[in-house]
Amino acid sequence: MSEVLVLVDHVDGEVKKVAFELLTAARRLGEPSAVVVGEPGVAAKLNDVLRTYGAAKVYAAESAEAGQYLVTPSVDVLAELVGSVSPVAVLLPASVDGKEIAGRLAVRTGAGLLSEAVDLDGEGVASHSLFGGGYVAKAKVVKGAPVVTVLPGAIEAEQAEGAAAEHAVEVPAPDATKSARITGREPVEGGDRPELTEASVVVSGGRGVGSAESFEVVEKLADSLGAAVGASRAAVDSGFYPHQFQVGQTGKTVSPQLYIALGISGAIQHRAGMQTSKTIVAVNKDTEAPIFEIADFGVVGDLFAVAPQLADEIGKR
Ligand code: FAD
Repeated sequence: MSEVLVLVDHVDGEVKKVAFELLTAARRLGEPSAVVVGEPGVAAKLNDVLRTYGAAKVYAAESAEAGQYLVTPSVDVLAELVGSVSPVAVLLPASVDGKEIAGRLAVRTGAGLLSEAVDLDGEGVASHSLFGGGYVAKAKVVKGAPVVTVLPGAIEAEQAEGAAAEHAVEVPAPDATKSARITGREPVEGGDRPELTEASVVVSGGRGVGSAESFEVVEKLADSLGAAVGASRAAVDSGFYPHQFQVGQTGKTVSPQLYIALGISGAIQHRAGMQTSKTIVAVNKDTEAPIFEIADFGVVGDLFAVAPQLADEIGKR
């Protein structure tokens, strides 16, 4: 059966949820091969969990330096594998790193690239959500081994037993004169909450929240739901919340089961980052706010009255 390469996103010895979603999508196309790039021993640690999501093979691309550089080791390893195993496709998460690796890989291998797919069928046709979720565009790569990035949360992960046979792959030594080296990693504020792009529930605040202090209302509702906190660009630009939590065209793209927008008008650039959420709830005091056009449930009201009541009710359950 044809191989489908899946780049495994992992951090601190844990596989990110998106990798399971990609392995699920890969099974529609062929036999999933998980590609783990990292420090020595990491693939063996992840092997059991990758097996339970149907990985037939696990390519262990390990070296002391692999985790110390940004995207180049993954690009090198995937390009090498594309040449040696001729996969039917390469799937990566549509994360900041995933998209950069995908772009470089497509150029390196001369293949077509599809970015931010929300679905992928067994024929390799990728679906993309456009214009506030109003249109779905379908596309297929016609040249080379397709490189496809898939939005985290877009595809539901399903378990399946795989062999997870481990194969060692050499990681070319990164060219220190051309590659960006990681000099340190620090946990960010809000680190106890789920990561924005991985969370199944996201509560975001906009300019309507009014101040950095008032963002506590957003955080309290998020914590009652075990959710991640997001923010609109207006909220970020006004200094209410840090930039790494911005959702939208120039921020992060999220696709959770539930997205709650508090005091966000719903500009097209914001929608671009959250329109594929499965259920959208909006709280806005303006009945004409465009966010209501894409909301599944809308509350016309003051977020400072609605959000605390909601958090209290959820807390009681
Ligand atoms: P506003 O549009 O000002 O809306 C605030 C809303 O809060 C209003 O609807 C108001 O009715 C409501 N409100 C006020 N008080 C309350 C209250 N007490 N209770 C309930 N509701 C209340 N934006 C992004 O978000 N992400 C991006 O990545 C992004 N990228 C951009 C890229 C470009 C190139 C450009 C040009 C713009 C980009 N923007 C982005 C900005 C975008 O166009 C909007 O300006 C921004 O999304 C507006 O944020 P907002 O909805 O929080 O603010």
